[in-house]
Amino acid sequence: MKIMVSACLAGENCKYNGGNNRNEKVLRLMADNEAITVCPEQMGGLPTPRVPSEIKDGLVTAKDGRIVDAEFRAGAAKCLEIAGRWQPDLVVLQSRSPSCGVKQRYDGTFTGRLVDQAGVTAQLLMENGYRCLDVEDLFTVHRDFLIRKLSIEESELLKDFLYEAIFIPEGVEAPARDIVERPELRIYYDDFGNRPGDLCLAAETEGHVVGTVWTRIMNDYGHVDDETPSFAISLLPEYRNKGIGTVLMRQMLSLLKEHGYRQASLAVQKANYAVRMYRNVGFEITDENEEEFIMVCRL
Ligand code: SF4
Repeated sequence: MKIMVSACLAGENCKYNGGNNRNEKVLRLMADNEAITVCPEQMGGLPTPRVPSEIKDGLVTAKDGRIVDAEFRAGAAKCLEIAGRWQPDLVVLQSRSPSCGVKQRYDGTFTGRLVDQAGVTAQLLMENGYRCLDVEDLFTVHRDFLIRKLSIEESELLKDFLYEAIFIPEGVEAPARDIVERPELRIYYDDFGNRPGDLCLAAETEGHVVGTVWTRIMNDYGHVDDETPSFAISLLPEYRNKGIGTVLMRQMLSLLKEHGYRQASLAVQKANYAVRMYRNVGFEITDENEEEFIMVCRL
């Protein structure tokens, strides 16, 4: 995979204060892939160290009042030009920067307040179709795949992965894809991102999402109480039995713990090979019916 990275994440001392944002996950990703670094603010002609800047009324303005919009936009244009030649599959950028912020940036008041808008370089790259990832959404990096947060805009993908999650015993014909539109399955993805316990991680390889794990507090088969998120996990068939599911599960369990949840639950058909994986990551059988185990993992 080809990646383009904010230079400060790679440890280059290009930050406004002369420091860097060295990030070990990014360094691992760079070591396992073809990578280049860019610092749009330096490329736009600004010195290091430099006065910090934020975007105010649409113009990038330094804390001392100087308008530095032209420099920021020149740096963004140079990054776009490099991306055009390099054709990265993924661009990993520093959070909240007026240049590199993907999801948020500071609001222009120099008071630490944030707005849900991108910095000028991230915005330009995304407008031109480059896939940009906020470094804070990068969870773990393995040689063949990375784990990241799934964005709300990608939540349509959950329908496909829900279909893949349907356990089909040997010799049984697969159901039609529109089975996921049934009300008892829609509860897994309707309005995802806006309800209690909604968290989702994706496993990605070569720029494609190949697996997802997501949680939601919902009245599904694995529901145990209104404080406990239920798990759903799904991998494309060709990516099963490669350890990706276990990594996804473990990362999600840590994320749930970070969010203050005390346990997670799931339901799994007794014949499903995944029962062993769930046990390996800490789930225990707490109940069962004719076909399924109900499993709970205490965090
Ligand atoms: S412009 Fe981007 S790469 Fe350069 S220091 Fe700021 S966040 Fe890092």
